[in-house]
Amino acid sequence: MTTSSDPELRCDPAEGLASFAELGPHRPTDPRPGTLEILAEDRETSARSCRLWTGHGPVETPCFMPVGTYGAVKGVLPDELRAVGSQVVLANAYHLSHRPGAERVGEVGGIHAFMHWPGPILTDSGGYQVFSLRSLQKIDDAGVDYRTHFDGSPARMTPRSVLEAEASIGPDICMILDHCPPGDGGGASDAARRAILREAMDRTTLWAQEAARLRREILRDDQLCFAIVQGGTDLELRREHLETLAALDFDGLALGGLSVGEPIPQMHATLEAIAPLMPRDKPRYVMGIGTPSDLLAAIRAGVDMFDCVIPSRHARNGQLISFLGRFNIRNGRFRRDDRPVDPSCGCPVCARFSRAYLRHLHVHNDPLYVRLATMHNLYFFHEWVAVQRRAIRQGNFGAVAAALARVLEDRTQPGKGSKSTS
Ligand SMILES: [Zn+2]
Repeated sequence: MTTSSDPELRCDPAEGLASFAELGPHRPTDPRPGTLEILAEDRETSARSCRLWTGHGPVETPCFMPVGTYGAVKGVLPDELRAVGSQVVLANAYHLSHRPGAERVGEVGGIHAFMHWPGPILTDSGGYQVFSLRSLQKIDDAGVDYRTHFDGSPARMTPRSVLEAEASIGPDICMILDHCPPGDGGGASDAARRAILREAMDRTTLWAQEAARLRREILRDDQLCFAIVQGGTDLELRREHLETLAALDFDGLALGGLSVGEPIPQMHATLEAIAPLMPRDKPRYVMGIGTPSDLLAAIRAGVDMFDCVIPSRHARNGQLISFLGRFNIRNGRFRRDDRPVDPSCGCPVCARFSRAYLRHLHVHNDPLYVRLATMHNLYFFHEWVAVQRRAIRQGNFGAVAAALARVLEDRTQPGKGSKSTS
């Protein structure tokens, strides 16, 4: 099986996107930020392809968003991000609020000017970090007290403080504060786990109501504001929370609290059941996923946007991902391997550099390694999604999704096909 060389499974992920030089602030002739054009819907699945207008241009969906927590995808220049197909960069309001400070970013004209990325930017609130870094001190219905992971100093986060930080930082899409419970319910029994999910959900609702009241006062008119649906993998809770948040004044909804340690089939089942119920006329975002298999499941379920640290973090750790699978570039067998990471990859790294050279750079801790490896991995993730986007728009998503599922299967069976896994 050589599905990976099938031409319909490969494409340039930057094809059809505006060039880097063409990106910039909203023009008067562009549709109003928040406008969602539904361009195609698959007949057999819930997959769909849209164009979301933001204050810095359109986003073609489905769209994978690279993570640049502090206003940079580590090691990669903004124009290089665009060249590998990035459309939206994700930053974190919590990290930027502490380093260098939300006001500081505002003083230089906002995050777009600060990092020289003229396209759409989304900021997460940082609530997830406060809950997951175990820096949490006290949580109440008005907000959360925590100690920063920078120097342990005490701080407080509320729905208002998050929106105020996002007003200064200036992203196009602002996530509100939510209460993200631990994925396994903290090792509790079923009843206790449900109570933990319910409490987080109810508190998230209170915070969302507060954010919906404040957003028009605090954010600019062209800043979109998304709320976050909780409920773990409990479908009843998820449906209830989705219905509650869908009635509030938000431009889009996200599913949070997934890919936090629950079994993968359960996570995919949650996506399959819940994503199609999200409002059709608003963007649907799943936070913090995922692997190529997660992305396939999410797109099939009708999700428009996703973010994940996998391509960039794995790249830095030596893990290179492609249609061939995933391998560790440090492996000694690459010492004399003059082939590119993936001979059929169209990325600017595979066009010029060998596995042996990348391994050499990694072993010697050369920063050029991080830049090249991140570019290749991001190109693959963007291509993986772009192929599905094109298929939805051309009306052959079913066939392409089936072929991509075979690629994934092929990658996990050593010895089968053109394998290159470690
Ligand atoms: Zn490549």
